[in-house]
Amino acid sequence: MPFTPPPRKKFPQPAIHSELTLDRMAQKRRDTAWVKQRLADKNSRFLLFADLALAVDSNADRSATRLRWYEAEDLARLGVDLAGAILLGCNAKGHAIFAASLGAAEAVAAPGGMDALKPLVDLRSLAMQGALTPRDLSLAAMGRALAAWHDVTICCGRCGGHTKACDAGWRRHCRACGRDFFPRTDPAVIVLITRRSRCLLGHHKRYAHKFYSTLAGFVEPGEDIEACVRREMREETGLTIGEVSYLASQPWPFPHLLMIGCRAEALTAQLRIEKEELHDARWFTRDEVREMMAGKHGEGISVPGPHSIAHALIKSFVDSGG
Ligand SMILES: [Zn+2]
Repeated sequence: MPFTPPPRKKFPQPAIHSELTLDRMAQKRRDTAWVKQRLADKNSRFLLFADLALAVDSNADRSATRLRWYEAEDLARLGVDLAGAILLGCNAKGHAIFAASLGAAEAVAAPGGMDALKPLVDLRSLAMQGALTPRDLSLAAMGRALAAWHDVTICCGRCGGHTKACDAGWRRHCRACGRDFFPRTDPAVIVLITRRSRCLLGHHKRYAHKFYSTLAGFVEPGEDIEACVRREMREETGLTIGEVSYLASQPWPFPHLLMIGCRAEALTAQLRIEKEELHDARWFTRDEVREMMAGKHGEGISVPGPHSIAHALIKSFVDSGG
């Protein structure tokens, strides 16, 4: 397929700001002596997940939330086995950053129990709220995606044998049959459908009342991104999609998705909504969308907040016209 560059002038590339300033140190993951030194280094810092919830420092309404950094000795006191820590990388000072993870039972059994770790927060709600800086959210998202992958890869998918973590948390090896497993990322598309001067936003059954967003779906095996966009949007809305262009992407660690943000030009306008998932979908003008983003829409309709790719896609639509 020939590559068509995104139409930047007509449709601005949305900014997601999810790039990490961290050096992932991929070349050092297999250097067990180096990893051991970093685990013992006083300057190394650890994020802690308990049952995949992140330990943070925060106020009651989560409006002022910061990552909580542990030192190795703090974690040892909590009974965390540092041998299972996942190397996220090294920061600008060259200090190692790890993620450590406790299962639900381990967290309850830790000295002081879950209470000693609180507040423990669901990263998804923090992401939706925009409570963390984009950089910190990216870091926590990386840790959560890896911790979630370890959780479901304890046993070998081929023979059922037990696997062990290797390469500073970036590989699991089956003790029985020798098969290796690597962290996975599942692609999904998130799509801003436009037709002339309007865009389509949908209200999913799982969304809050009067909350509308871009539509999304999983890329299936054997499918390229364009085909996925056309199939998913046809299934959900009945629309025929013409040109599909890539705009931006965002890692979404629930459990380990890569959201691929696209714009899709609808060739038809008549909607036939798939009611199983989608409660409603409507065409909106730029003025209406602008009001939603400002929280001033006449019907009280709202859209996703900053830091989400859905917001960036919707904003790029508003910014692309008068
Ligand atoms: Zn096996």
